Amino acid sequence: MSAMNTSDKTSVAVNTATDDRLSPLLFVEGLTVRYGDFHALKDVSLSLAPYGTHAVIGPNGAGKSTLFNAISGFVKPTAGRVVFSGTDVTAWRPDRLARSGLARSFQISAIFPDLSVEDNLRMALGRHADKASLMSSRRAIGLGEEAARLLSETGLDLRRKERAADLSYGQKRLLELVTTLLLDPRLLMLDEPMAGLAREDIPEVTSLIAKAAGRCSVLLVEHNLHVVERLAQEVTVLAGGCLLSRGTYGEVASDPRVREAYIGGSASD
Ligand code: ADP
Ligand code: MG
Repeated sequence: MSAMNTSDKTSVAVNTATDDRLSPLLFVEGLTVRYGDFHALKDVSLSLAPYGTHAVIGPNGAGKSTLFNAISGFVKPTAGRVVFSGTDVTAWRPDRLARSGLARSFQISAIFPDLSVEDNLRMALGRHADKASLMSSRRAIGLGEEAARLLSETGLDLRRKERAADLSYGQKRLLELVTTLLLDPRLLMLDEPMAGLAREDIPEVTSLIAKAAGRCSVLLVEHNLHVVERLAQEVTVLAGGCLLSRGTYGEVASDPRVREAYIGGSASD
């Protein structure tokens, strides 16, 4: 910390601001989702820092998507609470959560295939209420610095005039992520972003997520453990709806319970 010599009161304020990185952006406590007698999620707690990547792994049916759905308002938890940026948002609907900075990526289905790459970005930036309004405006509108930076970082600037439908699968995934990042989320939730990608597309998508995690908090469900190892500072392992283990990738990967339930089993890249 810089040597700011101020009154006690001010230095408390300075410390609070500095420690913002440490106070959780998302706090999930005792989250439980029951379908009849079946617990899809049971008493799961989780805390996310404002930056960095927290991965959730576990075998199929472990409750990973249910956890995502309960956090993002798509499923009403049976018990527990979700606190986002200090506010209890447990009963909030997905659209309200989205407006408050919680972005859930829905992958390729979210892009407009018949629009160009840059028009997809314009739509994301909200300069047009709908596609018709965008199409009727023939005037080229600048995309702004952030969009231009994301385009060049992903290599999509080379294809900015092309229809999104003509991009490769990996580039579509990048485009969808870029449009989500343009919403300037505080929390980015990604459910299996590498699913269906060709092996050669994985490094680029991984690197975009790593960059995103420098600007917001990323909660990631991912089966590709190389990607998890590369991206995640913290890993939560679920099995049968319950928290099985938590720690760094190295810690959970060497946890005998995790090896038995997941990593030692069928999980692979
Ligand atoms: P994961 O994403 O880890 O593969 P899910 O969260 O999708 O697992 O599912 C966890 C468990 O909850 C699974 O056994 C699944 O069949 C069950 N489940 C999920 N949604 C429902 C639902 N709407 N009704 C009943 N059971 C469900
Ligand atoms: Mg799932």
